[in-house]
Amino acid sequence: MEDFNLNTIVRTNIKNLKPYSSARDEYKEATGEMVFLDANENPFQNGVNRYPDPQQHKVKSQLSTLKGVSTENILLGNGSDEILDLIFRAFCEPSQDKIITLPPTYGMYGVLASINAIENIEVELDQDFQPNTTEILGVANAQTKLLFLCSPNNPTANSLDAIRIENLVSNFKGIVIIDEAYIDFSKEESWISRLIDFPNLIVTQTLSKAYGMAGIRLGVCYASKAIISVLNRIKPPYNVNELTQLKALERLSKPTAVSEEIQKILQQRDWLTSELNEITCIKNVYPSDANFVLVKVDDANKRYSELIQKGIVIRNRTTQPLCENCLRFTVGSQIENIKLITALKTLS
Ligand SMILES: *Cc1c(COP(=O)(O)O)cnc(C)c1O
Repeated sequence: MEDFNLNTIVRTNIKNLKPYSSARDEYKEATGEMVFLDANENPFQNGVNRYPDPQQHKVKSQLSTLKGVSTENILLGNGSDEILDLIFRAFCEPSQDKIITLPPTYGMYGVLASINAIENIEVELDQDFQPNTTEILGVANAQTKLLFLCSPNNPTANSLDAIRIENLVSNFKGIVIIDEAYIDFSKEESWISRLIDFPNLIVTQTLSKAYGMAGIRLGVCYASKAIISVLNRIKPPYNVNELTQLKALERLSKPTAVSEEIQKILQQRDWLTSELNEITCIKNVYPSDANFVLVKVDDANKRYSELIQKGIVIRNRTTQPLCENCLRFTVGSQIENIKLITALKTLS
């Protein structure tokens, strides 16, 4: 990857952009003594009367310690979805550039491609839900700016093979995004530790899954300083609100509580997997490296509506490639999982 030149990937209008600058960027450390009359805020204190820190220094510094990554390699977003959108807008010229995705996978990559008028070249995973590396590199050209790898993958629940990922990151000429929304449930190591080796790598994570904070909307992006600074130029200045920053700080300061919950979810995943294997209408339970389980049933549409009638909402993935008659179950609490199994046992 020595020949990777970020300048040839960034859109011209973004390169030439003069970003919005707020006075708060420059005087963040001195709030106590200084008088702030720059932002037309209401001076009466209520905890949220001031604009939030646009660079979220405290949250980034905690993440930096937890993950062993410098704060300069971190960008935060209003969910991973905002980060993914920033990546499109930074690197993909509408109606000209393309991306590569590997279905069946997370639907947002394709939706964001449509919103940004970017063609989405789909290269299906193989029968083991692994990337077809030769085919992917074969369709890549100067216009394919982004390659999305989701590992562990949603909805298939498996991790992508590390050797294949390394091959793709080493040989793809654009930017490779590894979406690690489910990494905390996985046995695999995060690719964050390989950012030093790959200037074209972006790793995204989120507080929505293992950290139990889907409601606050906080996504995390790890990449080279150069990539982070491009994304920083185009992000809305106050994209992560004050309440989100406070809640995230609170949660990130209790890593033991988080890992205890993860352990409980993993125990439940094992229990759920063995119970699902005993259900008559279930033909296959795919191994999971995430907090959900994909199963193949006899008739997905039928089983889906039967479960809805019993008040249980799951995800029907039958229209996805390689997922014919597949349902996806999130691993819930012990009580919820028992309800699911009990309901499935009554189906004939
Ligand atoms: C749930 C999920 C996310 C999380 O998105 P947020 O916007 O951070 O909540 C990202 N990627 C994948 C593959 C997911 O399944």
